Amino acid sequence: MTVVAVDGPVGSGKSTVARRVAARLGYVYLDTGAMYRAVGLLATESGVALDDEEAVVALARSAGLRFDGDGRLFAGGRDVSEAIRTLEMGAAASRVSALPGVRGLLVDEQRRLAGDTDIVMEGRDIGTNVFPHAAVKVFLTARPDVRAARRAAELRANGDQVDDAQVLAAILERDRRDCTRAVAPLRKAADAVELDTSDMTPGEVVEAVAGIAREQVGP
Ligand code: C5P
Repeated sequence: MTVVAVDGPVGSGKSTVARRVAARLGYVYLDTGAMYRAVGLLATESGVALDDEEAVVALARSAGLRFDGDGRLFAGGRDVSEAIRTLEMGAAASRVSALPGVRGLLVDEQRRLAGDTDIVMEGRDIGTNVFPHAAVKVFLTARPDVRAARRAAELRANGDQVDDAQVLAAILERDRRDCTRAVAPLRKAADAVELDTSDMTPGEVVEAVAGIAREQVGP
C-alpha cells in the first residue's frame, strides 16, 4: 500500500491535482474535505448547531457516507456531490471539522477506506495525522489572491454568484480556523515537500507531484 498525501489550504490546487495524479499513477483518489462538507450540510439542513459536538457526531455516525466509483459522495441514498460545493458548506465543514469527535469518526473512516490500496488522499491533516507514515507527502500553497480567484471561479462555474473579495474574506477566515484549531490543525508535515502553485498551471503541478511520487516510491 502506498499513500500519497496532498495537503494544503483552500484554493492551493489540491483537488484538481490530487485527482489527476491518482489517474496518472493508477491509484484510488479520496477527497476527505468532501466528508467534512457532507457532515456540515446534514447538520445545517437538520438545524443542528455546528458546535453541538454530541448532536453533530450522532448525525455523522448515522450519515451513511459513501463514495461511488466516480468519486460522487452519497449520504444515505442521496447524492450530495453538488450541494456540498458552496461557500456556505465550506464554512460549515470548517466548523464541524474542529470537533474532536467528528474528526475521530471521519479519520477512522478514511483509514478504513484506504484499506491496503494505493491511494492519493487530499485534505488538511493527511500527512500529519491520518497517515503520518505516508510514503509521499506534498503540501501545496499559493498566494491568497490567487487562491481566492481560483475558488471564486469554481463557485461561479457551479452557479454561485460571488465576488472575489467576498471569497477572499471567507477563505482567510476558514484558513485561520483550520490552522488554529486544537485537534489536527492545518500545517505542513516536517517531511512534506512544499510547492507554491501560484504561478504554475494545473498540468505543471501534476507533473511535479507525480515526479515527487516517482522519486519516493520508484516508477
Ligand atoms: O478541502 P475542502 O475545502 O473541501 O475542505 C473543507 C473543510 O473541511 C476545510 O476547510 C477543513 O476545515 C475541513 N477538512 C479538515 N481535514 C481534512 C479535510 C478537510 O479539517 N482532512
